[in-house]
Amino acid sequence: MSLNPRSSKRSRWIDIMFIVAILSLSSLIAFLLLIPNSSKNKENNITANQPIRAEEEVNEEASVYPGIRIITETSNDVFTPFAIQYPQSDVPSFNKIVREYTQKFKTLYLDETKYMGETKKHTKGELNISFEVFQNTTGDYSFVIHSRMYMGGANGISETKIFHLHNQSDHMLTIEDLLAKNEKSLEILSTRVRNAITSNKQLSTYLLLNQFEVKTTPKWGNFTNFVLNTNSIDFYYSTYEIASGAAGEPIISIPLSDLNDILADEYKLPAITVDTKPTGNVPKKEEHAISENSKDEATKVPATGKVVALTFDDGPNPETTRKILDTLKKYNAKATFFMLGSRVSFYPDVVKEIKEAGHELGNHTWTHSDLTKASVEKIASEINNTSNEIEKATGSKPTVFRPPYGAVNKTVRSQTSLPVILWDVDTLDWKYKDSKHLLEHIKTHVKDGSIVLMHDIHSSTADGLDAVLAYLQGEGYTFVTVSELKSKS
Ligand SMILES: [Zn+2]
Repeated sequence: MSLNPRSSKRSRWIDIMFIVAILSLSSLIAFLLLIPNSSKNKENNITANQPIRAEEEVNEEASVYPGIRIITETSNDVFTPFAIQYPQSDVPSFNKIVREYTQKFKTLYLDETKYMGETKKHTKGELNISFEVFQNTTGDYSFVIHSRMYMGGANGISETKIFHLHNQSDHMLTIEDLLAKNEKSLEILSTRVRNAITSNKQLSTYLLLNQFEVKTTPKWGNFTNFVLNTNSIDFYYSTYEIASGAAGEPIISIPLSDLNDILADEYKLPAITVDTKPTGNVPKKEEHAISENSKDEATKVPATGKVVALTFDDGPNPETTRKILDTLKKYNAKATFFMLGSRVSFYPDVVKEIKEAGHELGNHTWTHSDLTKASVEKIASEINNTSNEIEKATGSKPTVFRPPYGAVNKTVRSQTSLPVILWDVDTLDWKYKDSKHLLEHIKTHVKDGSIVLMHDIHSSTADGLDAVLAYLQGEGYTFVTVSELKSKS
């Protein structure tokens, strides 16, 4: 059989094309393998417009919850202020679900408020997303995410959603796991939850009977919003889910001892229970005491010369706050850190470093809520829980308080004995996320006695601080804490 010359020619072409294809494919693979490192480095440097990126890398040692870190995004925009906090882990699938859940609220909120702006009904909204962490002896984390959104008037949305994660695996605990996928057990659980709800006198008077029936029928999907606690399983309901608004967000707690007969073996209560402390933030009410140290520090203020009080809000952050501490040290500068209790509970070591470096500790509430819209009880717990958490980390109570968004009224003031500290220079670092802008703003706005607002959760601020301190020092400024500044005036 003789070969057709055309076909042999074509097969040679096919060979060549095949080789070319292999070569380009392998170089593409090599390129793709090399890319992640360089793009990752880029991401760390360019944090502008990407508030999440700054904390994208896991810093396990820094967090008191192994493998878990807390992400904070805040906007001080006049009409669309928000504070969003959510957990992230080493498990990409978990991270994606949680991030998408919170970003869904953010998008809805920004779209809605933008629409209201366009229709000239521009009223101030608020979005607040916060979370609580519960860790069980089996190594399962339950994260209770509270989302509240107001877009002016009565258009409020509030939702509580729970996400699960195991600290050693990528498994996300389900109610099916707890009941060994047993349908009979699900029916028993349904009955027990219903009994617990109807026997709760206060809650039962507010029940929306139809919804209550629907939401407690024996369907797996009805029981996903649970926290596995050391001694109980707690079911969380959003406002209006089973009861009218007056009932708030009901939590139905069923003791594990009452569920032992239906629980999967690995979740049954052991014969001897080990006493473990709940790791969630337990509300404790305690009054503030002004630190005795604040007076001693005040005496260090030079009698003459220009002074400026630099303040850093919304932290601490293991990377950016530490970088700021290094820069402050270089210039022998003292500053004030207004911290969120939620973040203090994750990174107490960073708070300790702030204190040990001689900076002033400030309270900036637990969830970064607009306190002028909150109940007295909520104001008190936001402030007191944060002060207690700072004291737990450092041994000292904070000495100053800054309300989120600078929103303060008589009621807010009545709930704390701490001096309320606002600012006169707002660097807008949260908005521009640009080191050059930070320096320019400071050059044109800072004067003797200024209190400068910055945020230590942005790497652009951490990166730009050196130039800011160099400039101000050159202008003859001394850097003091806000209490030192106040004692001088
Ligand atoms: Zn703030």
